[in-house]
Amino acid sequence: MGRVYNFSAGPAVLPEEVLQEAAAEMLDYAGTGMSVMEMSHRSAAFADIIESAEADLRELVGIPDNYRVLFLQGGASQQFAAVPMNLMKNRVADYIVTGSWAKKAFKEAKIYGDARAIASSEDETFSYIPDCSDLPVSEDADYVYICENNTIYGTKFHTLPNTKGKDLVADVSSCFLSEPVDITKYGVMYGGAQKNIGPAGVVISIVRDDLVRDDVLECTPTMLKWKTQADANSLYNTPPAYGIYICGKVFKWLKAQGGLDAMKERNVEKAALLYDYLDESALFRGTVRKEDRSLMNVPFVTGNADLDAEFVAEAKKVGLENLKGHRSVGGMRASIYNAMPKAGVEALVAFMKEFERTHA
Ligand SMILES: *Cc1c(COP(=O)(O)O)cnc(C)c1O
Repeated sequence: MGRVYNFSAGPAVLPEEVLQEAAAEMLDYAGTGMSVMEMSHRSAAFADIIESAEADLRELVGIPDNYRVLFLQGGASQQFAAVPMNLMKNRVADYIVTGSWAKKAFKEAKIYGDARAIASSEDETFSYIPDCSDLPVSEDADYVYICENNTIYGTKFHTLPNTKGKDLVADVSSCFLSEPVDITKYGVMYGGAQKNIGPAGVVISIVRDDLVRDDVLECTPTMLKWKTQADANSLYNTPPAYGIYICGKVFKWLKAQGGLDAMKERNVEKAALLYDYLDESALFRGTVRKEDRSLMNVPFVTGNADLDAEFVAEAKKVGLENLKGHRSVGGMRASIYNAMPKAGVEALVAFMKEFERTHA
């Protein structure tokens, strides 16, 4: 079998051109006579890789000079702890709980201070984004936290919350680089690479420089202190070098595609193919409130668990892989990140139509 259309939520599909380039450079990277996996992270060749990756990311997103870009390890989950450790000066933080990842981050923050859930959509299985225009933001909150795109439930903040002047911290793991963003609206934006950027093992944190500081919680490990990483340009210890190299290639690929405006246009078009069909189908339906739909993760159900399982199994046979919903929600989920071609979504919709015709 050749390559399949991989709808996995993460680790997820990568651009084929990137994989091909990496394959061609596997044994001999740029005349060094070795693989990127084998070279010193202090070498000139690797310095060029990580510096270009940062420069390309800055250019793509438009990251101002007063923000630091950190290439870290430990996944998004480790930032759940790093965020309160680095930011909880007053030991108070407000969390907007819109799904499993936000809830995990909220629970982690409670270990370190007074984390308060100021809004939640758990009452309706996280199928919507609460109105965040006038929340009871705590007077002494060190930050307001969101998970901007809810990977499991398929919702997205299309409007950022009114934080009433507090710094916004956002987990953007599953919507990173899917559309243009204004970084200046955030104090911290971070995400794991394995959803929309690169391989697992890299997490990128973009932190405004006044939040990169020495007065962190006393219990903070050296490695989790953003200042340690910022002062060492992400080379305090051995970084996830090969992963950073692949991320760098994806940044170049994104630039060649036309940047984040072009990605948004493509992502809107791809998502519309699927959502439009879900809205007209008599068999399948989307599970979240329309105005909060994610462009990246599209959950849907038939309403019959056996039929859902049959759909997932039949789809796999024709090369449409990883369509099973997260174990906490069931049904199906199609993750259609930047690297998923439009042809993949078209193939999925055609298959769904055929399945509906034969199973309605
Ligand atoms: C996948 C995911 C995580 C967890 O990422 P790890 O790298 O496995 O820790 C956190 N937040 C969001 C939004 C995710 O999609």
